[in-house]
Amino acid sequence: MVAEKQDTPPAPAPRGARPCPICGKPSAPTFRPFCSKRCADVDLHRWLGGVYAVPDENAPPGARETHDEES
Ligand SMILES: [Zn+2]
Repeated sequence: MVAEKQDTPPAPAPRGARPCPICGKPSAPTFRPFCSKRCADVDLHRWLGGVYAVPDENAPPGARETHDEES
């Protein structure tokens, strides 16, 4: 057995290589991958917005259209 195994893992990305996906600023370790809580919140709201972006079928009648009485 002379085979020398060189298990060199892929070089990890340098610290701060990934910018904040929201504003592009260098990410902060505390809020990774974001740069601040604000950006983290923005992303969170985007997420929730997508989740809750459902057609409101349960909207109360007359809430959207007020031209119902036309007869
Ligand atoms: Zn940011």
